[in-house]
Amino acid sequence: MNKPKRYTVTTALPYTNGPIHIGHLAGVYVPADIYVRYLRLTGNDVAFIGGSDEHGVPITIKAKNEGVSPQDIVDKYHAIIKKSFEDFGISYDNYSRTSAPIHHETASEFFKTLNEKGEFIEETTEQLFDEQANQFLADRFVTGTCPKCGNEEAYGDQCEKCGTSLNATDLINPKSALTGNVPTLKETKHWFLPLDRYEDFLKEWILVGHKKDWKPNVYGQVKSWIDDGLRPRAVTRDLDWGIPVPAQGGEGKVLYVWFDAPIGYISSTKEWAAREGKDWEPYWKDEDTKLVHFIGKDNIVFHCIIFPAMLKAEGSYILPDNVPANEFLNLEGNKLSTSKNWAVWLPEYLKEFPGQQDVLRYVLTANAPETKDNDFTWKDFQARNNNELVAIFGNFINRVVVLTNKYYEGIVAKPSEFQQVDEETMAAVKAYPDVIASSIERYRFREALNELMNLARLGNKYLADAEPWKVIKEDEERTKTIMYVALQIASALATLSEPFLPFTSKKLKSMLNVTLSGVETSWNDVSTKEVLLPAGHQIGKADLLFSKIEDETIQAQLDKLKASKKANEAANKTVEPQKETIAFEDFTKLDMRVGTILEAEKMPKAKKLLVLKVDTGIDVRTIVSGIAESFTPEEVVGKKVTVLVNLAPRALRGVESQGMILMTETADGKLVFVNPDDATVTNGLQIS
Ligand SMILES: [Zn+2]
Repeated sequence: MNKPKRYTVTTALPYTNGPIHIGHLAGVYVPADIYVRYLRLTGNDVAFIGGSDEHGVPITIKAKNEGVSPQDIVDKYHAIIKKSFEDFGISYDNYSRTSAPIHHETASEFFKTLNEKGEFIEETTEQLFDEQANQFLADRFVTGTCPKCGNEEAYGDQCEKCGTSLNATDLINPKSALTGNVPTLKETKHWFLPLDRYEDFLKEWILVGHKKDWKPNVYGQVKSWIDDGLRPRAVTRDLDWGIPVPAQGGEGKVLYVWFDAPIGYISSTKEWAAREGKDWEPYWKDEDTKLVHFIGKDNIVFHCIIFPAMLKAEGSYILPDNVPANEFLNLEGNKLSTSKNWAVWLPEYLKEFPGQQDVLRYVLTANAPETKDNDFTWKDFQARNNNELVAIFGNFINRVVVLTNKYYEGIVAKPSEFQQVDEETMAAVKAYPDVIASSIERYRFREALNELMNLARLGNKYLADAEPWKVIKEDEERTKTIMYVALQIASALATLSEPFLPFTSKKLKSMLNVTLSGVETSWNDVSTKEVLLPAGHQIGKADLLFSKIEDETIQAQLDKLKASKKANEAANKTVEPQKETIAFEDFTKLDMRVGTILEAEKMPKAKKLLVLKVDTGIDVRTIVSGIAESFTPEEVVGKKVTVLVNLAPRALRGVESQGMILMTETADGKLVFVNPDDATVTNGLQIS
């Protein structure tokens, strides 16, 4: 493509059954935001489009579990997600939702067009049906074994382990997610998009046409699907939550969420254009528009095969120029998981690190899973903040602004003649816009951010080597030049950091007083303008851009994750299977009595054992019990307990134990007395 006339940039529609976490931000939203902010700074016409995905099965399951309506669920999470994006500076031109009327209308029209053109196959097939729930099972309503990789927890639409896109009937040993029942097969009619008809088109367009410019992970996944052979895919579902199928025989059916969701990009663009008084069509139909979809790797099949096939079938739309999907981000070595609460949630982060959105944006970009899965660790977060943002970027800016205020009352001094180091430094600064731009345009945001930090390193080193705080004692003119050059670097950083660190950039621009005074520079100005901050310009006072993060703060985050892990382990603890059945006569052999603990003391040199004196109603006897890790002696004295009194006595560490106190153990390992704890129950009563 020649230089595009305009850009349409979309981000995967987050699914509204929960808030969003760092994995979403790192994989999709921060890279997309860097890209569009850069495009705007370089004077391009951009529509940055997003929205919430509010249809589909998981929302209906969540609503059912919580006893509310699906609309309640999506209203709640749409608001939370939208706010998180605003809080983290994701600079959408429009953020819509798929329950909006404009989307229902757009998706409905899209379906009708394809239906009228004969692009669908209508077929009555046997689908999985849950007799008890009286409902067809597809997508997340059914789990089973993936026929490709053997994962036993694959869903009816996709295996999350190997990424294969599935039909529910492909699953081996399917099980209803609603009732746990084994489903039966029942006939129902659906509309199918015959993907096999698009194989040649997809081969030509992607495998030949985008061999060089698409990321290898994306290209590889697409190639393997096409090589496997594509099959017709149902675009409708038997469900009551979604967009009704606008065709005869469509009663009680809705559009498959993966048919309607990507059309959400188009609806959201329409909503934006209507509000801004623009025409939406060139953003989707003009060949001079560059369309880019930012997504995570689990969405590749939908954006590279199904949606392009839909657009191609419709006939009047352009195709994406690139789909720079990222791999996954892990957290402290484990897969991020909403259900296991193994995540850093954005609303929580903001509460615990107020005003530090850019630190998270920075770390997630520096460590982005661009080519392989990557790990987020709190130690790395702390190290990158303290050693990079504070020690390099922040330190440089602080010195420049503080010294300029100290020496020249905040006025940019007039430089004297440049020495070689000054000339070289200024030339190096002017090269950065192109270097960073080249990385951004190839979707290499880690590399781009590293180049930005190299500019900060250049400034930091220039100042440390030139030592104006020493030079000022003997050479005032030289000091003016040093401070002048350092201020130009600071100004370049203010502009070039904007895509990555928008809050910092804004603060820095305000510190340098470039926003109000009309000397704000564009991206290209950094290369082309002779001077960014002219002599005589008045800057403001110093304000810290970043602050050190202490060990305690990091430890608190690690403790929180540890608590999540423990809770998960407790929840996953398996229930022991039932033992072999016994005859009633065997049970009657057990003589269990109610008793009271009269005395208790620790068994010397035994961590787990307490020596108890127990009144069993028959006698007062000694019982040794392994409860010392859960109770102190003081806690158990006076307690009513259940005792197995006719257990053969045995010696424990030289003390004869005459019976056993019945205990149980909770999921998190705490012992609890099995106890008829009632004042009217007297000692010696039989348990039967
Ligand atoms: Zn699989």
